[in-house]
Amino acid sequence: MADKFKSKQEQESLKYLEENFVGDNQDNDLNSIKKVDLSYLDDVPSNEYMVIPLDILPCGLFYKPGTKISIRSAKVQEVQAYSVVDDNNYLDITEKMNGILSSCIKYIYPNGTKGSYKDVRDGDRLFLIFMIRELTFPGGKNLSKDVTCENCGHEFKMELRATSSNKVQKSFVNIEMSPKLEKFFDSRERVFVFNIDGVDYKMAPPTIGIQEIFFGDIKTKIQTDKSPNVAFLKLASFLLHDRIKITEDGIKAKEQEFKNLSMKTFQVLNHAVGLMLFGIKEMKCDCPSCGLEVRTDMSFPSGASNIFVIPDAIDEYFG
Ligand SMILES: [Zn+2]
Repeated sequence: MADKFKSKQEQESLKYLEENFVGDNQDNDLNSIKKVDLSYLDDVPSNEYMVIPLDILPCGLFYKPGTKISIRSAKVQEVQAYSVVDDNNYLDITEKMNGILSSCIKYIYPNGTKGSYKDVRDGDRLFLIFMIRELTFPGGKNLSKDVTCENCGHEFKMELRATSSNKVQKSFVNIEMSPKLEKFFDSRERVFVFNIDGVDYKMAPPTIGIQEIFFGDIKTKIQTDKSPNVAFLKLASFLLHDRIKITEDGIKAKEQEFKNLSMKTFQVLNHAVGLMLFGIKEMKCDCPSCGLEVRTDMSFPSGASNIFVIPDAIDEYFG
């Protein structure tokens, strides 16, 4: 497709990708990204989607070898849909983020068949949202947090970044696997296997698909004044690691199994789930004044809406 048919924003983000993602900058964690032709999937221009290296994702370990996840920048209609997110409502934030992922992600199973954002691990949602943000605003529209260097007292702004650009270093630090879990990890199947009294229980961080169904279940129960079985839903989502959907009857059957677990099995699995906190752990960067590393917790300075809504848009675009 000729460049003149692309919007200015698309051209900018392609330029950004070429400069930062396909370049040979040694510091760039994304330099292994390559453009691939996914045009056989539908009529989207093939160069719009970028395959990402899975090992940069917090749950990268849990995708079977050969899995391909590609992302593209968000279009203005998608940003518009996201912009009405209720910053105080966790379920709404999750829904709106999933909305962005559903349009901006392509998922391919190792056997070449097409999946969707529902196959993405729940713990990767925020990281991918930021990667998409960084493609959408190649100029690096500022989203940062005020921090103070403990060493020299310098106050500065740390940018929230999943990837490095030529101007800003990536700041996200992923949670590492708990040493307690390591010996249970099956690196071929990409799951944790717990053999309890002769029965194998396989667990991994849940998919977005299962999480969406369980959130739906929680919502319906709350609306009808029933209390959702949160202990069950939490554990079940990890046991259903290889699923992206389940029927209502399926949930009921699983809940019955859950109630019949032995004390030992429940305690072990529940402890294991408590250790499977894969996601963004914190942020770090070097102090611009003394050069020592500064770390801070991962939080949104002004709510989840600002990930795609630029607060000082007038200054940012005209300033
Ligand atoms: Zn300092």
